[in-house]
Amino acid sequence: MTEPLIYELSAPGRTGVKPPRLDVPEAELPDSMLRDDLPLPEVSEIDVVRHFVRLSQLNYAIDKGMYPLGSCTMKYNPKVNEVAARLPGFANLHPLQDESTVQGALYLMHTLQEYLKAIGGFAGVTLQPAAGAHGELTGVLMMRRYHQARGDMQRDTILVPDSSHGTNPASTSMSGLQVVQLPSDARGNVDLDALRAHANERVVGLMITNPNTLGLFEENIVEVVRIVHECGGLVYGDGANMNALMGVMRPGDVGIDVMHFNLHKTFSTPHGGGGPGSGPVGVAASLADYLPGPVVILDPEHSDDDHPYFTFYQPPQSIGPVKSFWGHFGVMVRAYTYIRMLGGAGLREAAEHAVLNANYLRSQLRDVYPIPYDRLCKHEFVAEGHFADAPDIRALDIGKRLIDFGVHPPTYYFPLIVHEALMIEPTETESRQTLDAYAAILRQIAEEARTQPDLLHEAPHSAPVRRLDEVTAARKPVLRYQRS
Ligand SMILES: *Cc1c(COP(=O)(O)O)cnc(C)c1O
Repeated sequence: MTEPLIYELSAPGRTGVKPPRLDVPEAELPDSMLRDDLPLPEVSEIDVVRHFVRLSQLNYAIDKGMYPLGSCTMKYNPKVNEVAARLPGFANLHPLQDESTVQGALYLMHTLQEYLKAIGGFAGVTLQPAAGAHGELTGVLMMRRYHQARGDMQRDTILVPDSSHGTNPASTSMSGLQVVQLPSDARGNVDLDALRAHANERVVGLMITNPNTLGLFEENIVEVVRIVHECGGLVYGDGANMNALMGVMRPGDVGIDVMHFNLHKTFSTPHGGGGPGSGPVGVAASLADYLPGPVVILDPEHSDDDHPYFTFYQPPQSIGPVKSFWGHFGVMVRAYTYIRMLGGAGLREAAEHAVLNANYLRSQLRDVYPIPYDRLCKHEFVAEGHFADAPDIRALDIGKRLIDFGVHPPTYYFPLIVHEALMIEPTETESRQTLDAYAAILRQIAEEARTQPDLLHEAPHSAPVRRLDEVTAARKPVLRYQRS
């Protein structure tokens, strides 16, 4: 058991800091700033250190163990990324500095744009969006603008498969467009007949995730793109699953018109806990003029072979900025570092190992956990977290029981089209030993489901908090500690 948390550490007169000697003239503080009613804790340095270290150890993190949270690509964040992001020349920049003083940063942004263009097969890239969902909104706004600029005003609908991430319909609604949901077929692909039935002159475009959230490659992607283009629509690629494709397939090559990347997933920058992330958007040539500005370009007038000079460029029909200044620069530095460390061949190898690891784990579990679409998967697979002979065990019970073994649960109850879904994405950075250990735990839990179901129902037993009311916690969070 974890030791109980102690918050009341304050003792009158105890102190952990000695302020430096004053080197500016002393001034009176306004009375309104001097408040006796603030119960500031009086603690020593070691009290503070122990308190925060103890709190940090209650958290689970990729630096602690495997984190197979499907769809999230929780791969290891190499520490060299952090070293690069902390270089004073990057860390101490101010967004209002003159461009001539930040040429190194602009070089990095420009090069990252070029890398993402090469990885995705696109003609242009914006680095502004703050995360994947923000990239989706950006992309959908560009698609809408594209149709409007052609005088094609009646288009108001985005087609979204039923396996899609919730952000896809949400981004559509936020841009003022209608969502039409498309069913999946028996192999887990978009149902082509349903797509044909809805492909008409009202369609702004289709949003498609490939590999999709079942971890399956869309086998008919070429035909899907053809049908959408034929009705005048565009195809948005949700690039959250690029970890399966980088260096192997370029979405632009199959006709994807616009796609976001999640630097915090595919390109190994830290995430979880809400950010910051980064969701650059790549576009085909037909959409390049609508990119949010400014984008970084090489300024040929002020450059020569030895001295490239970079500047900002406002695309002529830009939808406008989607973020203040230039986006989350620190995340870009980390992603750039990751790409430079691996190189093109290394990125491809990472994708191949992500796919290999997911298929290995699937093969270790498929005789115990039902897998409804049981075919070669890409970077993740979706099993069912229930058993015919243990009917009152749910995916939630399995996930909570995993916590007792000191590992992180997979994503559960997503995608929505799988009953009691357990969505497992091991990523390429886990060794075979780690995968075997995780599979062994899941197999033991499947056994316990039959023999000791209450062990699962009451899990977690070892965590500092047991089962939470997660809905109330999200809707009515209590964010401030209150002394009892
Ligand atoms: C993570 C994810 C998103 C949203 O990306 P954020 O960076 O979390 O906003 C969209 N689609 C899929 C499939 C995802 O996994």
